Amino acid sequence: MQYTQKLKTGNDFSYPSIKDIENYSKNVRKGKVTPTIPKCPVCNISSEEFKRHDVRERQFFIPVNQIIQIVFCLLLRWRCPACNKRILQYPDFALPYKRYTLQTVLDFCARYVENDQSTYKSVILEDVIGYQEYPNDYRQIDRSTLWRWVGTLGRLKNLSQTAHRLLLEFSPASFVSRHLATLAVPARKYATAVRKKLLIGCRKLLHLEAAYQQYFAASLFPNLATASGFS
Ligand SMILES: [Zn+2]
Repeated sequence: MQYTQKLKTGNDFSYPSIKDIENYSKNVRKGKVTPTIPKCPVCNISSEEFKRHDVRERQFFIPVNQIIQIVFCLLLRWRCPACNKRILQYPDFALPYKRYTLQTVLDFCARYVENDQSTYKSVILEDVIGYQEYPNDYRQIDRSTLWRWVGTLGRLKNLSQTAHRLLLEFSPASFVSRHLATLAVPARKYATAVRKKLLIGCRKLLHLEAAYQQYFAASLFPNLATASGFS
């Protein structure tokens, strides 16, 4: 169970640098980003046929020495030539509607759900981001931000189910199912059944991501997540 061990450290998510994000934008501008998204969900046309539609600008918050830096990034929208559906392509560091990168979200959530002792506050205090310069700034990661991130990951049910199915197809005798069934969360971390479900969903997703990396040497993000509609 090497992969669970890796996740427990919570330190395996290498955050993208400002340079990584700038390079992605540069590639978007130069037309070097190809559609690596799934086929059109409406008419099944391969994304290779998609036409470049437009470019959107998004802000990302990148911690540098624990201070948040704001980086602008260009995201590409494709258009299906048959039905005109527009599909936004997420780079491997982005989640829909999140200004922090995917790696920040995974890392902080893992530190909360993988450690029975941790509280939202303890995770934030372990690695205060944004606090030094912006004591009352919305840009600091606070408890409510982390609380929401856990919910976001916990709600990715389609993605979890698809990843689980693909892992079983690849290795029917794998211990993944048994392992997922053992994932629990201490009762003091939730007050409602709904929250409990989200916490366990979040843990499952983190373990599925680790298993997927181990078996397929790839992340669930962004391709499988896009195919699952980030749901
Ligand atoms: Zn279409």
